[in-house]
Amino acid sequence: MNTAFYSHPACRGHDMGDGHPECPQRLDAISDHLRATGLDLFIDHRDAPEATPEQLGRAHAANYVGQLVERLGAVQAGGRPQALDPDTVAAPGTLAAALRAAGAAVAATDDVIAGRAANAFCAVRPPGHHATRDETMGFCFFNNVAVAARHALDVHGLSRVAIVDFDVHHGNGTEDIVAGDERILMVSFFQHPLYPYCGAVPKGTNMVNLPLDPYTRGAAVREAITQQWLPALEAFRPQMIFISAGFDAHREDDLGQMALVEDDYAWITKQLVAVAERHAGGRIVSCLEGGYSLSALARSVAAHLRVLADVA
Ligand SMILES: [Zn+2]
Repeated sequence: MNTAFYSHPACRGHDMGDGHPECPQRLDAISDHLRATGLDLFIDHRDAPEATPEQLGRAHAANYVGQLVERLGAVQAGGRPQALDPDTVAAPGTLAAALRAAGAAVAATDDVIAGRAANAFCAVRPPGHHATRDETMGFCFFNNVAVAARHALDVHGLSRVAIVDFDVHHGNGTEDIVAGDERILMVSFFQHPLYPYCGAVPKGTNMVNLPLDPYTRGAAVREAITQQWLPALEAFRPQMIFISAGFDAHREDDLGQMALVEDDYAWITKQLVAVAERHAGGRIVSCLEGGYSLSALARSVAAHLRVLADVA
């Protein structure tokens, strides 16, 4: 069975302005590199549908979904960008991109649970893990991974899912949404201190937060994962794993100061695939979060995908 690769041209249409690191070219860099390496031939390309308000409302407050869709719709109609918070700018193409990004995660979840894909990667933007239950934040509008995890629980009736976040920034939005929901185990590491300057003290007993010092290298990250993530995941026995796959902990990425390389992302992915094979029938849905050095991003996504798709 194949690895599904969800994306949509609309995800390129979200543009926060010249020189912004969270840029449409991130998706081009990924797709170019997959073609150049031939990895493209081993993955099953699928078009992301738009998420519905009902799906988004499983992770977000209903009035947040309604008001944000309305506001993004007004920006789309008005044709001019508008800052929603100090870090997050809505552009005319943002509504379609944000709905497709969350919709990719939901459709990938449906496919993997139905057996139409072994696992899936969503090459989407905007990212999602800073979006809280009722606030945009840090380039994020809807929390794609949290929406998908709740879809697996509430619609498909799974009883335990894990969320794994290896972005260099703490996934505070996901934590805000899932802390205290004992059906979800969230494990993460992140550089600390770094934006959004929280996470050192977890908000719930279902969180394993690993704050790491700047300049932490792969060997120390692997050790921390072995000591902290893997025993928690084994004990929890998730029926499905969702990954907030940010690649900005790469040593070439200027938005963080950690020092991971492609091999580290491959190693992390292998550990998660092994957990998923033991407990979850291999079910993994991974969604792009950060990663701003275009070349390092593309190479790291390829390393991640090579493991997911079991391509030597
Ligand atoms: Zn990040």
